[in-house]
Amino acid sequence: MTEVVALRSSCPRMAVGAVMTVQGRIISTGYNGSPRGTAHCEDAGCIVTDGHCIRAVHAEHNALLFANLQGVSMHETILYCSHLPCWECLKIIIQLHVGAVCYHRSYRDNRCEKFGYTSQIDAFRAACIDVFQEYPVMI
Ligand SMILES: [Zn+2]
Ligand SMILES: [Zn+2]
Repeated sequence: MTEVVALRSSCPRMAVGAVMTVQGRIISTGYNGSPRGTAHCEDAGCIVTDGHCIRAVHAEHNALLFANLQGVSMHETILYCSHLPCWECLKIIIQLHVGAVCYHRSYRDNRCEKFGYTSQIDAFRAACIDVFQEYPVMI
């Protein structure tokens, strides 16, 4: 499901998708894309700073913002992500008290080390947010 949402990404550097659920129901989705009304990477090119494209709003961030606009109580939510969230998204996920994070693909963000964590997983656990890797179901 996160992979399907990721297909809508307009940043070619990374197709990322996020799906947020409450009690098994999808309440929000997000993909990497520019803020409304601004140019998209696929048309105007990425703007890369320190190895990260700064034009797009990240999938996780977009999913959280939409849920927040709906007034969702975050501690009951599970955020499913196609990739382990980057450091910037991690900070927002922690501050919004998301209940749990389930990711599909590993993604290493070296910024973690600057803050004393070996990976984003350590940082989530330090903030008491459950984080687990979802293995694709083989059918
Ligand atoms: Zn981009
Ligand atoms: Zn991110």
